[in-house]
Amino acid sequence: MPLSQVTFCVVDLETTGGSPTNDAITEIGAVTYRGGERLGSFQSLVNPLRPIPPSIANLTGIDDRLVASEPPIEQVLPAFLEFSRGCVFVAHNARFDFGFLNASCDALDYPPLPGPPLCTARLARRVVWPDVPNVKLATLANYFRTRATPTHRALDDAEACAEVLHGLLDLGGRLGIVSLGDLELAVRARGRPNFGKIALADHLPHAPGVYLFRSRDDRVLYVGKANDLRARVRSYFYGDARKKIANLLDEVRTIEGIRCRGELEALVVEARLIRTHEPKYNRRGKTWRRGAYLALDQAEAWPRVKVVRAAKPGDGRLYLGPFTSSARARLAKEALEEVAPIRRCTTSMATGTRFAACALADMGRCVAPCDGRTDPERYGELVRWLASSLSTSPGELLEALERRMSALADAERYEEAASVRDRLHALAEGLSRSRFDAWLIGAGHLELSSERDRVLSFDRGSLEAGRAAHPALDDLDGHPLVRPCPRERADELSAVRSWIATHRPRIERCDR
Ligand code: SF4
Repeated sequence: MPLSQVTFCVVDLETTGGSPTNDAITEIGAVTYRGGERLGSFQSLVNPLRPIPPSIANLTGIDDRLVASEPPIEQVLPAFLEFSRGCVFVAHNARFDFGFLNASCDALDYPPLPGPPLCTARLARRVVWPDVPNVKLATLANYFRTRATPTHRALDDAEACAEVLHGLLDLGGRLGIVSLGDLELAVRARGRPNFGKIALADHLPHAPGVYLFRSRDDRVLYVGKANDLRARVRSYFYGDARKKIANLLDEVRTIEGIRCRGELEALVVEARLIRTHEPKYNRRGKTWRRGAYLALDQAEAWPRVKVVRAAKPGDGRLYLGPFTSSARARLAKEALEEVAPIRRCTTSMATGTRFAACALADMGRCVAPCDGRTDPERYGELVRWLASSLSTSPGELLEALERRMSALADAERYEEAASVRDRLHALAEGLSRSRFDAWLIGAGHLELSSERDRVLSFDRGSLEAGRAAHPALDDLDGHPLVRPCPRERADELSAVRSWIATHRPRIERCDR
């Protein structure tokens, strides 16, 4: 709701002390405003039916004699509730006034006041701090040069508080606080020292895209994507309590937004920007250097499966991956060796190399070309079966692993069964990733559309994103891909894969 349509009831109480349960109200003062226009006022002394401490009487001027003939809260409260009905409750240090009135509502069987109350002290911390030495009502009244002066009498203080509220709303407008929702969020916001920087988001559109937080020297500190750029960026200032975010907001000097045509383009542009800038505050998207592949070189004399960091397209080797880490790749390698008894030793072997077999040979886990138990033809057959399983028909491999896992579980060898399960998962992940990449890259020119994203074009696996969105994106590495997918583009293709799995887009065009 726009603030101009909100009716505020600005309230102040005088009491016999600070405890809503042990003390009582001695005076209620309130004024109502809408759109900056004063609508009415309410003032009533209240007989607390208990002595007023002298220190309080000295401060407020309200003593036992003054309230002796005044009505008790039972008579005043209904009139106040009627006066404030439908309004947003406002007070300075609102928890105090709200707490006292709700304690009275509770004692007299009235429903509690609708909350949350709006606290002008908290709002001042967001809007004028540190331009004021403190956020006491008298200090703020002086800062805004209010006509009403706080006197520790309820109506005077409510009038002064209302003027302070309007001063704060004027300043808050420059920070983008233009609706009741903005106001409630601003009051709750943490990260007080940087709240004023929320104005850095003012130029961002309410549209999907990617945002970049930049430092004083224009370094990219953080890259993120959002369906609503303005709302997402503003949310960092409203209550993200993470230490990392506080540090990020300390350093940010400018925020750039790049409008995208939909969720997928935003995901891809985000991945490319993170890879290009490696921003200090991004964790996800910077781990591609940990990626690894499995490689099988059938041209070797006695091929074995190797974990390698980089893939060289066109070098004749069969690759699986990229995996997210070499540990993950090693698990998948162990899965293959579980069902295909090829050699695991790293000794360099020519066709005629011979040496003593290791224990794997006697366990039946390796066909042992080392001591001549197998010949190149039989070994080649095993390697060809493994290669064809990996590239076209992995079902047999996966089923063999599942059988092994079930047999171990049946024999109550649960730890070993769990190890086989982990290896099976790693292998299935690598196979699924390789098959998807092969389909996407092999599709040539591909056009997909979904309900939310218009037609998106891919050129050999690479989304044609960026040029239309922002000229600066021309520099990002978005060239067409060859298999296997380079590990630095793995996050980008993961984003495409999960988007396709979620949105199940239509294929509008496919070269192959
Ligand atoms: S049995 Fe021979 S070929 Fe197989 S892993 Fe052991 S040493 Fe290597």
